[in-house]
Amino acid sequence: MELTLWTYEGPPHVGAMRIAASMEGLHYVLHAPQGDTYADLLFTMIERRDRRPPVTYTTFQARDLGGDTAELVTRSIQQAVDRFRPEALLVGESCTAELIQDQPGALAGGMGLGLPVVNLELPAYSKKENWGAAETLYQLCRTLLRERMPAPGSSKPAPDRWKSEGRRPRVNLLGPSLLGFRCRDDIKEIRGLLGEHGIDVNLVAPLGARPSDLLRLPVADANVCLYPEVAGPLCSWLERNFGTPVLRTVPIGVGATRRFLRELSALLGLEPPESNEADLRSRLPWYSRSVDSTYLTGKRVFIFADATHAIAAARIAADELGFTVVGLGTYSRELAREVRAAASDLGLEALITDDYLAVEKAMGDAAPELVLGTQMERHSAKRLGIPCAVISSPLHVQDVPARYAPQMGWEGANVIFDSWVHPLMMGLEEHLIGMFRHDFEFVEGHRSHLADGAPSRPGGMAEAAQAVAVASSPPPPLPSSSLQPSSLPLAEGALIWSVDGEAALRKIPFFVRGKVKTNTETFARDNALGEITEEVLYDAKAHYSK
Ligand code: SF4
Repeated sequence: MELTLWTYEGPPHVGAMRIAASMEGLHYVLHAPQGDTYADLLFTMIERRDRRPPVTYTTFQARDLGGDTAELVTRSIQQAVDRFRPEALLVGESCTAELIQDQPGALAGGMGLGLPVVNLELPAYSKKENWGAAETLYQLCRTLLRERMPAPGSSKPAPDRWKSEGRRPRVNLLGPSLLGFRCRDDIKEIRGLLGEHGIDVNLVAPLGARPSDLLRLPVADANVCLYPEVAGPLCSWLERNFGTPVLRTVPIGVGATRRFLRELSALLGLEPPESNEADLRSRLPWYSRSVDSTYLTGKRVFIFADATHAIAAARIAADELGFTVVGLGTYSRELAREVRAAASDLGLEALITDDYLAVEKAMGDAAPELVLGTQMERHSAKRLGIPCAVISSPLHVQDVPARYAPQMGWEGANVIFDSWVHPLMMGLEEHLIGMFRHDFEFVEGHRSHLADGAPSRPGGMAEAAQAVAVASSPPPPLPSSSLQPSSLPLAEGALIWSVDGEAALRKIPFFVRGKVKTNTETFARDNALGEITEEVLYDAKAHYSK
């Protein structure tokens, strides 16, 4: 048992639903109790689809358990096939149905339906949504392509065979799905990028593909694994069995897009792209070099997301925006090794967990100035009063925007620059608030360019109005709680802050105050100092800036 309030991923059958709903002509019969239809809302509300997902639920009730639930399964399968006439059928169980062991996939296989049936075995008590999506896509392709597998030992097709065949090179874009982060626009962006470099897209899957389209997978010269969480196992299987090479560089960020184009060109035997293409095509390189971005240098950023977006974000933050990455982690256990490697390149230890409270704790301990995460981190960051941008699923409805908002390619880098810098206080305001602390409107933490103003600061305007009332007199001392951001609860054996120590701490700009406070307390503990005075604070500052 694990006490859980929020989960980063749904059960694996939701992953299977994502594959079914992303495709056309595919239907999913899900053996599930009454009530599991809640998952429809993920597609009709969050993705704002104009139709129900292609899922038939058996919706068994308590009274059905005394009867023949297997008969309910076969009846539901037959009705779904008769009504929807799909090209292929997925059959599987939800968590509760797994316990009653009706084996719906095996039952469907024996019904002589006259169409490909994929028996999904998704262990709901040990695996999660992304694994379920990856397994479903892989099993579906495996079932459909079984007859077309080359004989063992056949020679692998050369990725540059397009030259001798008198056509343009063509690739598959694999992994985009509903409820993935910005997949709709990423595909458009990458399709355009490839087209400009003379590369055709053979197939995008699962998003928008039909089962019959999947039969064309092996005719591509290479597979582009855009979302490893969903397409990783399929790409490896196609490589092993059909000899199709895989490009695993995910083009999120300017550097990654540049690398993606270079690697793909080399793989397909094309001319390498122009070396200055990034500067010509994306605004991020110039925007981050321009003087207004100087104040971004060294900003402390905490990143927690699915593995694909966490790794990409860490590279962009460190290499393209000049941030200091102070925390990196993922809930994608299947790709933990890759995230660990990315963290170790930054001198960090990766946080691999699906416990949002552990993430919130790590976030508080790292005292960042910006959080890049999922919806969960957005909530945690709000509680801790830290600016945040969402970079990965799980997502809410506002991250399926009406406007064009890719993350990949040159335009994706533009979108990323804007959305990551937006939650931060603007440079001039940050400078002025640091200099003049007693303004009645521009109080500490206030971000005037955001409608919501400051990240939570108790008292806000009311406190500022009081400050005006006592006009020329010095402002009243802040309650000591305001010196202790809620993110940084005092450790056991609490230290005492002297009045002059508190005053010195208050002079530190609010967005780094949490970090200074933590460092000073660590310094005091390490040196067995019970009270933190102004002198101790500055000694600690000198110690950590060595
Ligand atoms: S079967 Fe699984 S997904 Fe459905 S309600 Fe029960 S626990 Fe939730």
